[in-house]
Amino acid sequence: MSRSSTPIDFRANTQAVPPQIPASVQRATSRLLGTRAAVVALVGAERWEQLRQAGHDLRLHTITHLDHYLTLLEKRVTEAGGHVHWARDGEEANRIVLEIARAHGVRRAVKVKSMATEEIGLNHALIAAGIETLETDLGEFIVQLAGVAPSHIIAPAVHLTKEDIADLFHDKLGVEAPAEPVQLAAIARARLREAFLAADMGISGANFMVAETGTLVIVSNEGNGRMCTTLPPLHVAVVGIDKVVPDMESLDVLLKLLPRSATGQKMTCYTSFITGPSRSPKEGGPQELHLVLLDNGRTRVLRDVATRETLLCIRCGVCLNVCPVYNHAGGHAYGCTYSGPIGSILSPQLLGVNVAGGLPFASTLCGACAEYCPVKIPIPEILIHLRRRVAEGDQVEGSAIAPILTAGAQAGALVLSLPWLYELGSQVLRVLQAPLRRGGWLPALPPPANRWTLARPMPAFNASFRQWWRVRTPEGRDRIRRQRALAGVLVTGVAAAVVIWRVFRQRK
Ligand code: SF4
Repeated sequence: MSRSSTPIDFRANTQAVPPQIPASVQRATSRLLGTRAAVVALVGAERWEQLRQAGHDLRLHTITHLDHYLTLLEKRVTEAGGHVHWARDGEEANRIVLEIARAHGVRRAVKVKSMATEEIGLNHALIAAGIETLETDLGEFIVQLAGVAPSHIIAPAVHLTKEDIADLFHDKLGVEAPAEPVQLAAIARARLREAFLAADMGISGANFMVAETGTLVIVSNEGNGRMCTTLPPLHVAVVGIDKVVPDMESLDVLLKLLPRSATGQKMTCYTSFITGPSRSPKEGGPQELHLVLLDNGRTRVLRDVATRETLLCIRCGVCLNVCPVYNHAGGHAYGCTYSGPIGSILSPQLLGVNVAGGLPFASTLCGACAEYCPVKIPIPEILIHLRRRVAEGDQVEGSAIAPILTAGAQAGALVLSLPWLYELGSQVLRVLQAPLRRGGWLPALPPPANRWTLARPMPAFNASFRQWWRVRTPEGRDRIRRQRALAGVLVTGVAAAVVIWRVFRQRK
């Protein structure tokens, strides 16, 4: 991810979400979940669980033996005639791609949808260097025209309706564009065909890299992946180091899990296997293939055993589709490349908790993401671990919250651990809240507590729970009986004393 030091304010971003976004997002995600359910049902629940477990195990094995598999991959890609480059971060990856482009006099590039290149801001770097760069996946083409970032891992324009896209094509391409999906796709296709034929360089990511054979695997539904990687004379692939898989048998498992989870398909329309550049002019295809292996924080993620399973992700996007927070906020509210549950665990680890430390809290912890994840990433557990990292710091990063909040939390912990202090505090609060109370509610609290009341009223503090609870336990009832008996004795004693005193006075 291109590193920015500006903290992401998820709450503020959600307040800026246009009101029509949740409906567009929910329409699309429920459609994707419906098709997924149908193909998973065909596999059968038991077999699907076995596949998920196998996917989890082989991905975990791979990321814990990355040194072996990446070295083997480099060897095999080189043997097949490709060139392998290693990039520590996004800046280095962009520099490598630009150097390759300059060495080949590239003026026009076409791109396949790739989260890794989105993560490092490659388009901006190429365009800033004067290279015309065009996204060719339909959704990416649309968001590039709109000048915004993708809002979903596999459906970048999920937040837009067909009417929005028709208006966009009309404004940016100067064509009459009816709000009809088939006609809109035809307009994009006509524009893209010219670009494929004129491009000097094709850029892609890869869904997987097979170490055993040095093969890049790209799954797509639009055919643009094949156009980008075969028509231009030069192919550059930028791929995260976590995308390596040991062999074709492992790939077989993952290719069963990915399309079913992502788009509800048994397999995508195109599954391209690229092993080296073209072997002869008769064969067609690019004369040169460059593979840029991107770290950009992934080895840092590996360091923490509690969170490293984040790297098992195969970017299917189903955790976004089932997430209630994503469905209400949309992808742009997350303020970085990866959104939804995977974004909430990956972004803080890639960008640091000082930048993306708010995202692990953008979750209800309902656990649906983990139930659907095809490689069984324990997302809720990682979210909780990252919340702790944000609050307390750990061996990877220090705490990311203000000292005053830490002091407040420690004071709260002390009060909650001492029942008498808690009761005393609750009685004091009950008195202090009186001027702010309106019926059973506190509609406006002073800062910093107003962060709650800006969005919704706070229920008034009644401090009556313990009293309420006391009469509902046998011990409580006994205590009340004893207190009542004692009160009865006292009242009777006082009354008797008064009577005796009066009799005594009358006699005097
Ligand atoms: S975390 Fe799991 S469900 Fe989410 S995108 Fe990655 S593989 Fe898919």
